[in-house]
Amino acid sequence: MNYSRQREEVLEQLNVHHDHPTADVIFSELRDKDPNISLATVYRNLKVLAENGIIRKLTFVSGADHFEPNVNPHYHFICDCCGKVCDVPMQVAETLDATASSYINGTITGHDLVFYGKCDDCCNSEDSSD
Ligand SMILES: [Zn+2]
Ligand SMILES: [Zn+2]
Repeated sequence: MNYSRQREEVLEQLNVHHDHPTADVIFSELRDKDPNISLATVYRNLKVLAENGIIRKLTFVSGADHFEPNVNPHYHFICDCCGKVCDVPMQVAETLDATASSYINGTITGHDLVFYGKCDDCCNSEDSSD
């Protein structure tokens, strides 16, 4: 199996997700289909895909790198309890870049906005433990 076939597999598997998985998640899912694939291969392909702008690597999440197939600008919510990353489908504030650029020497190419809190699952599990 050649590299480009594996890259396709990695991309296909990521496209199934709407939850910003790590390379580990993609690897464990692909291993069932392709026992020869390694975590290093999955990670390398995700990195190359991200470098080429085909997918996005989330730079604001601490710990393992998270990836997503949606490269359009959008905002995120991160659960403080479980670390889950969700999309926030609100409108992107395009004027923010222009506003920020008046405070910065240089060019702004975009911005990230991350909301923090507690996801439904974590709120519910706390309720049921009472
Ligand atoms: Zn949570
Ligand atoms: Zn996202």
